[in-house]
Amino acid sequence: MSSAPAQHDAPTDTTPDGTDEANAFTELGLRAELLGALAALGYEEPTPIQREAIPPLLGGRDLLGQAATGTGKTAAFALPLLHRMPAHRDGGDPVALVLVPTRELAVQVSEAFHRYGKDLGARVLPIYGGQPIGRQLRALDSGVDVVVATPGRALDHIARGTLRLGGLATVVLDEADEMLDMGFAEDIEAILEHAPAQRQTVLFSATMPSRIDGMARQHLREPVRIEIGREQQVAGEAPRVRQSAYIVTRAHKPAALGRVLDVESPTAAIVFCRSREEVDRLTETMNGRGYRSEALHGGMSQEQRDRVMGRLRAGTADLLVATDVAARGLDVEQLTHVVNYDVPSAPESYVHRIGRVGRAGREGVAITLAEPREHRMLKTIERVTGQRITIDKIPTVADMRTRRLELTQAALRESLLEDDLDPYRVIVETLTDEFDLMEVALAAVKLAHEVTSPGSDDEEEIPQAPVRGPREGRPEAGGRGGDRRGGGRPRPGGNGVQVFIGLGRRAGVRPQDLVGAITGETGISGRDIGSIEIADRFSLVEVPQGMADEVIAGLRGSTIKGRKATVRRDRGGDHR
Ligand code: AMP
Repeated sequence: MSSAPAQHDAPTDTTPDGTDEANAFTELGLRAELLGALAALGYEEPTPIQREAIPPLLGGRDLLGQAATGTGKTAAFALPLLHRMPAHRDGGDPVALVLVPTRELAVQVSEAFHRYGKDLGARVLPIYGGQPIGRQLRALDSGVDVVVATPGRALDHIARGTLRLGGLATVVLDEADEMLDMGFAEDIEAILEHAPAQRQTVLFSATMPSRIDGMARQHLREPVRIEIGREQQVAGEAPRVRQSAYIVTRAHKPAALGRVLDVESPTAAIVFCRSREEVDRLTETMNGRGYRSEALHGGMSQEQRDRVMGRLRAGTADLLVATDVAARGLDVEQLTHVVNYDVPSAPESYVHRIGRVGRAGREGVAITLAEPREHRMLKTIERVTGQRITIDKIPTVADMRTRRLELTQAALRESLLEDDLDPYRVIVETLTDEFDLMEVALAAVKLAHEVTSPGSDDEEEIPQAPVRGPREGRPEAGGRGGDRRGGGRPRPGGNGVQVFIGLGRRAGVRPQDLVGAITGETGISGRDIGSIEIADRFSLVEVPQGMADEVIAGLRGSTIKGRKATVRRDRGGDHR
C-alpha cells in the first residue's frame, strides 16, 4: 500500500497567533458553512487522515482507508460528503448511506454529521435494530440526506421499500472489518446491489484482512489508498520518556486525570486536547477540582498566551491544557509530564507531544488516557515508535488514601528534621497529663493530614474499562456459511455463559440477526460475543459472564425478526 506521506506539521506560514481563523481546513477547499462549523467546534487543523482523504473525496474518488478510531476518520468522510451534497434539499431519498457495525457507532456518526452539517441544513437519520421502526419510517418518509445504518436494519427498510437507494451519490462502509466479523458480509453485498453503479464508494477499516481487500476489489473503482501509521517516517527519534496509558471511558476521564496527577505529582504538566472547546472545558473542570490550570489554544491572542506561559514558568500554574497547534515549539523547562487527554490522531503527533518533556537529559513522563475503542491506536503508536506503552491500572480510592498518608508522613518527617518544635512542647505536656502520648500524636497527625491532604470529593472508584484487544492474528468469523459460527473465535474471557433465545432456524434467525440484536440493544461489541448455535426452535449465544444480564434484559426488550422471544440464561440442556 502506498500513499504520499502526509505533511503533518503546521504549514510554515501558520503562526498560531490565534486571531486568524483561516486555518488548514480552508486550504482543503471546504465550503464556508463547514468551516464555520469546524471553527465553532474548536478544531484547529485537520488530522493526518483528514489531510490525506478529504481532497480525493472532494474530487469524487473512491477511497480505501486503513485507520482506527481516534484518527478523525469520521470527519474525513463526513466533511467531503456534506460538501458535495446540495444544501437545504426538500424531501427526497438519501444521497449518502453510511453503513456501520453497531448502534453505538450509528448514533456517534449521525451526531458527527449533525454537528458538521447544521449550517447546510443536512438531515441525518440513524437507523438501527432495536429502535421503534415507526419513528424511522416517518423520518424516511419526510426526506433525509444521509442515512447512517446498521446493515440488518438497512436491509429491512430496503425490503419494505421505505429506504430507496436509487439517489445515492456516496456509500461509506465504516469499520468494515468489524462488520465482516459480525457476519454482515452478505447483507452488505445485498445493500450494495441496490445502490447505483455510478456512485462513490468509501471503505474504512482498522485492519486489512484479505476479505476486506476482496470486498474493496469488487466494489471500489481505482480507489485512493490511505494508511495511518505505516510507511510514514516519524521525524526524529521518539524521546526516551516513561510512557504509560490508562484505559478509561469518556465520562470518567476528568476524575481519572485528577487521580493520575495526584499520584504522579508533576512539577508542571501539559495536557493535550483535540479542540479549543475541549481545552476550555477541561481547564474549567480541573480548576474546579483544585488544580491550577491554564488554557492555551489558537483562539487566544499572543498577549494572552504570554501571560499563560509566564504563570507556568513562575509556578503559579501547574497545569497547561493545550491544543497541538498552540503548543507547537513550546519549551518549558519545568515540564515533567505530558498527558494525552485523548489518543493523538497519528503516531507523529504523539511523538511531537511527548517531545515536550525528556529534553536535554531531563526525566520525563508521558501518560495517555485512551477510551476502550482507541486501544488499537496505542498499538499503532508502539509499532511506529518502537517503544512500549505500558497499560496501568487507574489508582483506586485505597491507593489514593495510601498516597495521601504517605505525603502527610513525609511532611511530618520534614518538620521533625527541620522545624523548631519547642513552642508546641507545652501543648504536648499538658495533654499527656490526661492522654497517652500515642493518642496525642495520632490526633496531631490527623489534624495535619486534614490540612495537607484535604479529602478529594471524587472518592468513587473509577471503573477499569475493558481493553479491547487488537484483532491481529485472529481468524475471521465464519459469516453465514453455517449456523454455528465462531469455531476459531476466542471464548469471551474464558468464562462465558450461554444465553437461551427461544427462536431458531424455523423463525428464520441467522447469526447476524442475533449479533445485530445484541449489539443494537446493549453496549456490547460484536467481538465480545462468543459462539452462536442455531437450532430449529431456539438459539444459544455465548457472552461474557459479566454481560449476561445486560444481554438478557436488552433482548427481552426487543424483537428478533419481528418477534418477541423467550430469553434467559441457559439452564443446560433442558431444551434439547
Ligand atoms: P474518530 O476517529 O472519527 O472517532 O474521531 C475521534 C475524535 O476526534 C472525535 O471526537 C472528533 O470529534 C475529533 N476530531 C476529529 N477531527 C478533529 C480535528 N481535526 N480536530 C480536533 N478534533 C477532531
